[in-house]
Amino acid sequence: MRFASTRGASPDVGFSAALVQGLAPDGGLYVPQQWPQFALDAWPAAAALPALAEPLLQRFAEGDALVAQAADIVGDAFNFPAPLVPLDETGHLSVLELFHGPTAAFKDFGARFLAACMTRIRSGNPKVLRILVATSGDTGGAVAAAFHRRPGIEVVVLFPKGLVSPTQERQLTCWGDNVTSLAVRGTFDDCQRLVKQAFLDPELQITAELSSANSINLGRLLPQAAYYVATSLAVWRKHGQKASFIIPSGNLGNSVACLWARQMGLPIGDIVLAHNANRTLPDYLQSGLLQPRPSIATLASAMDVGNPSNLERMSHLYPDATQLGQQLEAVSISDAQISARIISDFAARGQIWCPHTATAAEAYEQMPAGRRANGRWVLVATAHPAKFREIVEPLIGQAVTIPENLQRLFELPTQCTEIAATLDALREVIAR
Ligand SMILES: *Cc1c(COP(=O)(O)O)cnc(C)c1O
Repeated sequence: MRFASTRGASPDVGFSAALVQGLAPDGGLYVPQQWPQFALDAWPAAAALPALAEPLLQRFAEGDALVAQAADIVGDAFNFPAPLVPLDETGHLSVLELFHGPTAAFKDFGARFLAACMTRIRSGNPKVLRILVATSGDTGGAVAAAFHRRPGIEVVVLFPKGLVSPTQERQLTCWGDNVTSLAVRGTFDDCQRLVKQAFLDPELQITAELSSANSINLGRLLPQAAYYVATSLAVWRKHGQKASFIIPSGNLGNSVACLWARQMGLPIGDIVLAHNANRTLPDYLQSGLLQPRPSIATLASAMDVGNPSNLERMSHLYPDATQLGQQLEAVSISDAQISARIISDFAARGQIWCPHTATAAEAYEQMPAGRRANGRWVLVATAHPAKFREIVEPLIGQAVTIPENLQRLFELPTQCTEIAATLDALREVIAR
């Protein structure tokens, strides 16, 4: 399969090239040139994620060297589950838990799959691949975990010193080996600027090839589509009804993956995006005017995006707000509503949400009762609440039990270098 840029001014490329490049040369994002169609009865009966991801990868990587290693790659990438847990007896409401990976958030799916592919693409290449990631908290940890100890690859994580939560900071600094963690004296924007400058710096490209693993990489979308395949098939086989998803959304990568799965013939009904107070997409669908704006800090910080990059992939499929609005809905949930939802669902049923997942739970509560009762609704849980315990614990008045995957990280020694927000400082640590 070939992939085209959403901006239409770059040559089309194969799967491996799209992964390594990240962004197309014209600044656009890679999208499939045609949509493979999967008949429902062609999917293997076994519901395990690797078995369902394999045919997906085989079609996406058709004509690419990676296709021969598809089974190997999905086995390496999907080494943790995405369980669908019922929340009521009728089977009308469930939660899809995407937080059983190494850093307890759904970004582990994209990062691990990308690492599994990149390792094989680079195998035998004498030059080191150096992956630079600027992070405001979640992405950097997932990428570091996924690439930790992968041969031929180094990771440099840049985060704003003092501006990530203590729990997030541990996940960014507990790796060592081929991962270098840098606390930058500046903001997230400074970190992003440094990464962009590094890509333009010839000196930094002498010893290694540079790459990024940011959220617009095509390699993140395919593994995310895989859990929508698995979930919608499970719901269809059990209830004979389409699954409808409520997805906590920010940069729209997770929701594009869901749209793509439906585009490829999976039995997916409604798609509802739950945003925090950053309401660029809800406003666009309502007014028809796209108005990107600076992000607002909220409790669901991993969704603080004022100019969502993956909207470009949505607009490529559905060019205006009217068309897009026929395919999905978007709501905006305030911090006060997030807190209230965490408090009341804990009180009513002992359910503890992370602030992001709470936006989806609140969007569900706001729906008319008839709509809730007729659908097969799936709340997408994007992170474990322990990851955001600084926010959640004061609301519920007790400690959140830390899952084994996070506990293991918390026990590792941390290491980190503080640098000024300048290219010289970055060059110096990399040279060491
Ligand atoms: C990144 C993230 C989101 C937002 O996902 P997008 O693909 O950017 O829309 C939601 N919740 C958590 C916990 C995240 O880390």
